Amino acid sequence: MTHTNTRTELQQILKSKFGYQEFRDQQLPIMEGVLEGRDTLVLMPTGGGKSLCYQIPALAMVGTTVVISPLIALMKDQVDGLKLNGVEAEFLNSSQTSLEQTRVLQLLMTNKLKLLYLAPERLMANNGELLFALKEANINLFAIDEAHCISQWGHDFRPEYLKLAALKQVFQNTPIIALTATADQRTRENIVANLRLNNPEVFTSSFNRANIEYHVEPKQDSKHRLLEFLRERKDDSGIIYALSRKSTESISEFINANGFNSRPYHAGLSQEEKDENQNLFLQDSVPIIVATIAFGMGIDKSNVRYVVHMDLPKNMEGYYQETGRAGRDGLPSTALLFFSRGDAIMLKKFIENSDPEQAAVLHKKLDQMVMFGETVKCRREYILQYFDEPFVGPCGACDRCLNVSEWMDGTIIAQKALSAVYRLNQTFGAGYVIDFLRGSKAEKIREEHKSIKTYGVGKDIARNAWVSYINNLIELGYLEQSTGQFPVLKLTAKSKGVLQGSEKVELVKVVQRKKKAKEVTAEYAEDLYSYLKEWRYEMAQHKKVPPYVIFSDKTLIDLAAYLPQKEEDLYHISGLGEVKVSQYGEDILKIIKQYCQKNGLQSKMEMITKVKSVSKSSKKSTKVGLSETEKTTIKLFKQGMDIPAIVKKRDFTASTIENHLASGVKW
Ligand code: ADP
Ligand code: ZN
Repeated sequence: MTHTNTRTELQQILKSKFGYQEFRDQQLPIMEGVLEGRDTLVLMPTGGGKSLCYQIPALAMVGTTVVISPLIALMKDQVDGLKLNGVEAEFLNSSQTSLEQTRVLQLLMTNKLKLLYLAPERLMANNGELLFALKEANINLFAIDEAHCISQWGHDFRPEYLKLAALKQVFQNTPIIALTATADQRTRENIVANLRLNNPEVFTSSFNRANIEYHVEPKQDSKHRLLEFLRERKDDSGIIYALSRKSTESISEFINANGFNSRPYHAGLSQEEKDENQNLFLQDSVPIIVATIAFGMGIDKSNVRYVVHMDLPKNMEGYYQETGRAGRDGLPSTALLFFSRGDAIMLKKFIENSDPEQAAVLHKKLDQMVMFGETVKCRREYILQYFDEPFVGPCGACDRCLNVSEWMDGTIIAQKALSAVYRLNQTFGAGYVIDFLRGSKAEKIREEHKSIKTYGVGKDIARNAWVSYINNLIELGYLEQSTGQFPVLKLTAKSKGVLQGSEKVELVKVVQRKKKAKEVTAEYAEDLYSYLKEWRYEMAQHKKVPPYVIFSDKTLIDLAAYLPQKEEDLYHISGLGEVKVSQYGEDILKIIKQYCQKNGLQSKMEMITKVKSVSKSSKKSTKVGLSETEKTTIKLFKQGMDIPAIVKKRDFTASTIENHLASGVKW
C-alpha cells in the first residue's frame, strides 16, 4: 500500500466509523507508523485522542488487535462505544461468566473480532494460557493502554503489567503501541525497557489542555464561593475534590441543602454505596460528585465541565491529573482551586511521618504546589513548565491572564471595610464581614447587625471583589486575621489613620479582562440541547450504557447549533458515523425539525465549515419544554379563546396554533 492510499483509507475509516472530519495533530503519523509494523510509544494528555491511534489501524488491518487495559469498568464503556459505531469489539475479564468468555474466544478464533480488550492479569493467568492461545488467532497489534502502570516510578504501578514483557518473546513480529498520559522521562524509559519495545518511534504531544480554564482563589469562605460557582453552572456535571472523607460528606450535604444534587465518594463508603454514587454520576442522574482522590482513576466520563479542589493537592502531578478529568470531550471547562498556605502546613505534618529520603521529595513537591497557588505569572505557563514543556504565557484562559492588576484609590473601600470590622466588635470572619457589607439578607446575619449604619454600604461591590480587597487590606497591614479554626478580622495600629480619614489607601483594582476574541462562533439553542439530552438519556437507559457513550455533549451541541434537516447533513456533524446515522438519524432529525418548525428556525448547516467554536445562545429561551410563543398560545387558550380566535389574534396558521397546543399537552 502506498502512503497516499493508506492515508485515504485511514481518513475514510475516521469519517465513516467515527464520524469525525479530520485527524488531530499526531494521530495520522502514529497510525501510519503502526501500519508499517513499528513499535510505538504515544505520550498524549487525557482527552487527546489516544484510543483512535490503535482503533483505526485495527480496522485497517486483517486480523484482531488486542488492547490491554487495567480497568474493567473502562473496558466495558470502550467496547460499548465501539459497538455503537458498528465495530466488532469484545472484552474478556473476570466479570464475565465462563459461557460468555467462551463465546468471545470463539469470535476471536473465527476471525470475527477487530478489537479484543483484556486486563493484563487475564492475559497472563494460568501461566499465560490465553497468551499462547492467542498464537492460534490472527493478532496484528498489541495496544497497551495506561502504559505507565508498568513503571515502578509511576504513581500507579501495577505489578501484573511487568509480565507483559512476555509479549515480545511470544510475538516477536507483532508491533506494540504503548500509550500513556504520564510523560516524565523515567517512566518513559521504563515503559520502553519493560515492554522490550524494539527501537520504538516516540510521539510526544503538548500537555497543554487548551480547553481548561485554570482559576485559583483564596480559601476564604470557600463553601459560599463554591455555591456561587455552582450557580453559574447549574446544568453542568462536575467533580469537587476534598481532602478528608468527612469533608466530602459535609460539602455534599451543604450544597444539596442549597438546591444542588450531589453524592459523596470516598474509601470509607461500602462498595455498594461507592458503586451507586459513581453510577449515578456516570449516568448523568446526579451531576455532582464530591470526592476524595480515591475517585477518578478509571473515570472516562467525557462531559465533566469543572473540577474544584476545596483543599490543596499534595503535588502538581495530582493537580494536573485531577483537573485533567474535566473536558475530555474538548469543550470549554473550568478548574478551580481554593488555595491556602494553611493547607500546606497541615500536609507537611503528614509528610513528617514518612522516611527521611522520601519526605524530602514530598516536601519539595508540596512547595512547588504552593508556588503554583502563589505565582503571579500565567498558571498554564507554570503547569507546563513544571512538566518541562516550554510554554510562555499569557494564555488568555487562566485567572492571572484574565484579571490584570491595576492600583486604584481604595480609601473609601478601606474605610467601609475597617468600620464594618470595628462595628462588628472585631469578632467575625471575612465571610461574615463581606455579607454584612453587602447587606445580605441571609439568616446568619444577626438582627441587631441589620440596624447598624455600615450594614449594606458595600452592596455595589461584588462578593469576589470584596474577597480580593479584604485580602489586600490584610497584606497591606490595615487588617489582621487571627489564626485558628475560625479566624476573625481585627484592626491594627495602621487602621486608625484610615478610619479617621487621614490616611489614603491604594488597592489592587479587580477588573475582568475580556477573553480573547474567538474566530467565528455559532450559537446553539439551549432548549433544543436539553431535549436532545433527554432523548439521549432515554436511549442510554435502554441500551444500559452511560449517556456519553451514545453521543458526546459535543455532538449534541453541534446538532443544536447547526440544525441539520436531512440525513446527509448528519454526516457533517462531529461524532456521527454511518452506523449511528442509520440507527438514530431519523429520531434526531425528527426532534430537530419539530423544534425548528415551532420556533421558525432554519438549518445553519452552511456555517459548519466556517465556525471554529460553538457557544451558548445569549437569547433567552425557555429551558424546559415550551417556547415563549407556545406559552403565549396556551395562555390565550386557557383564557378561553378558541383556535380560530387565536389564529386571528396571533396571525399564525391554524396548524401552527394546533402544534403549539399539542406541545402543551406533551410538556
Ligand atoms: P484519551 O484516551 O487520550 O484520553 P480519547 O481517545 O478518549 O482520549 O479521546 C477523547 C475524545 O476525543 C473522544 O471523545 C474521542 O472520540 C475524541 N476524538 C479523538 N480523536 C478525534 C478527532 N480526530 N476528531 C474529533 N474527535 C476526536
Ligand atoms: Zn494564563
